[in-house]
Amino acid sequence: MRMILVGPPGAGKGTQAARLVELFNIPHISSGDMFRAEVKAGTELGKELDRHMKSGGLVPDEVTIPIVLKRITSPDCANGFMLDGFPRTRPQAEALDHAMTKAGVALDAVVLIEVPDQLLEERAVLRRSDPETGKIYHLKYNPPPADIAARLVHRADDTVEAVTKRKDKYHAETAPIIPFYMEKGILKRVDGVGDPDAITERIKAVLSD
Ligand code: ADP
Ligand code: ADP
Repeated sequence: MRMILVGPPGAGKGTQAARLVELFNIPHISSGDMFRAEVKAGTELGKELDRHMKSGGLVPDEVTIPIVLKRITSPDCANGFMLDGFPRTRPQAEALDHAMTKAGVALDAVVLIEVPDQLLEERAVLRRSDPETGKIYHLKYNPPPADIAARLVHRADDTVEAVTKRKDKYHAETAPIIPFYMEKGILKRVDGVGDPDAITERIKAVLSD
């Protein structure tokens, strides 16, 4: 299974990816997680990524594309992968297409998780993650256990200002990849509002269509 999860910031891509990769036994490749790991490592590249991410802007294509293409050509992706957060621009979608054609493989599905704009701010601002397990919590909808509360991380770009900018970027730069995948006949739309378990079932259903 070679698939992509697309959706606005806070749509639930990471939450759903964690459930689906267990089911399909494929690596979860989140460009955001890869970039945050680089920022945490304090490298020169990490410093550059941090500047773009903190403000809610996108990391430029010329930086993003080689990092992700390298990752999906590693041996653990030979039987498939779940991309989360890539591609996010039309040039990224075209670069992925080109690389996959060259490798003689094809995408099976692009799942678009649809959530109305007015729900996204609350989802992102109250998001917390556990650096030890990588688990994603929400202070209102998926509260963390009290004993790990002190170690939870609040992302630097999960502020009202940065989320507003990220939503705008999504509509301006990411939404144009949707017709690209519609034309290929592999776009699957899923309603991302409701209980996360119900959404997982919706995704499984569209994937088996
Ligand atoms: P979310 O899950 O809320 O959509 P991500 O973790 O996917 O956020 O991404 C966080 C930030 O990392 C983005 O706002 C952007 O700055 C950067 N980023 C992640 N993936 C990409 C990408 N494919 N292209 C450009 N920037 C990216
Ligand atoms: P994305 O990767 O698309 O940015 P996340 O999976 O990190 O989104 O989810 C964003 C926030 O919303 C997290 O705090 C998560 O716990 C919460 N969340 C995820 N799915 C749902 C849902 N179906 N209903 C309510 N909150 C959700």
